[in-house]
Amino acid sequence: MLWQQELKSSVRSVKELVALGYVPPWEQERLNAVEQNFPICVPRYYLSLIDKGREDDPIRKMCIPALAEEDASGAFDTSGELSNTVERGLQHKYKNTALILSTNVCAMYCRHCFRKRMVGVSDAETAAFLTQVLSYVREHEEIDNILVSGGDSFLLSNRVIEKMLSQIAELQHIRFVRFGTRVPVVLPSRLEDKALLSTLSRHAAKTPIYAVTQFNHPNEITAASERAVKRLRACGVVVSNQTVLLKGVNDDENVLAELMNGLTSMGVVPYYVFQCRPVRAVKGQFQVPLSTGLRLVEHAKAMLNGHAKRFKYVMSHETGKIEILGAADDGRLLFKYHQPKYEKDAGRMFAADVSGGRAWLDEAPGGLLY
Ligand code: SF4
Repeated sequence: MLWQQELKSSVRSVKELVALGYVPPWEQERLNAVEQNFPICVPRYYLSLIDKGREDDPIRKMCIPALAEEDASGAFDTSGELSNTVERGLQHKYKNTALILSTNVCAMYCRHCFRKRMVGVSDAETAAFLTQVLSYVREHEEIDNILVSGGDSFLLSNRVIEKMLSQIAELQHIRFVRFGTRVPVVLPSRLEDKALLSTLSRHAAKTPIYAVTQFNHPNEITAASERAVKRLRACGVVVSNQTVLLKGVNDDENVLAELMNGLTSMGVVPYYVFQCRPVRAVKGQFQVPLSTGLRLVEHAKAMLNGHAKRFKYVMSHETGKIEILGAADDGRLLFKYHQPKYEKDAGRMFAADVSGGRAWLDEAPGGLLY
């Protein structure tokens, strides 16, 4: 089946999920309200990865809406995306990187998404005019790379991707381009599209292209997703992976180790493990305390070889990307700015008390920076 048809046949309502037996009928009314705020889209392929006999199936947790999404604690913009927006659809938080919000559409609406405020909901934050966005980049020669994010950037049409890469190629100071996409994981048939593959091959031969994807559980590594990764790699695209640490999905050292080994075995670079952000309708259901996260990551790393443990355990904070390094003798956790928003923080380390199950730095007593 063509990917467009597959996408069209995705499950998009609580009603369908009840009919298919993925949601109990007694939850339907309340989940209908959840669906109004946070849309549903699950490709049939991804749905088929759920073990229906398991209530706690990790794939189910990532794609089927839950009553926990009624929890209104947390915030919608936890890393200052609005304050970093310099043009509609363009964020410039880190000196060298321009981040384009290219679409608000995804092949699947992950229940743990940190851009829940916009995916499938509103395109008010996405780039309306590519030329406008790229003209900002043209004027800022300190920018040497572009991250095309969304939504899912590989859900853009082939024509738009081609146009984008052609225009980027004209910017002499851009050294590489990244596409944030989850299609290898949730809609691998997208990467059977020969026109897309040919565009990627042609441009990757001139400007390095990275596909940054998000495998969160070994059950997402299937023959189909492996094929999708292989196709990208055959185009000369480097595939790297950002895993989000998610309660009930991968908060287990063995699962994390298996995932990283699986990724490395198929030529995907394990890049980051992200601390789940305190996002509304996500936080309560998915966040793992920082001290637990650190323990899990360290135990997983102890089972891995050097290549499989190249990833860093990080959080995307308002002040920058912060690595969670380890624990001090007094029990506080040690952090280091991996990618600071402000120059004064470059390379800075600090310790913070995150006892009591704290899962984000702002919640540390006395404020953030120690
Ligand atoms: S694919 Fe990415 S942007 Fe889209 S819903 Fe999932 S996590 Fe969010």
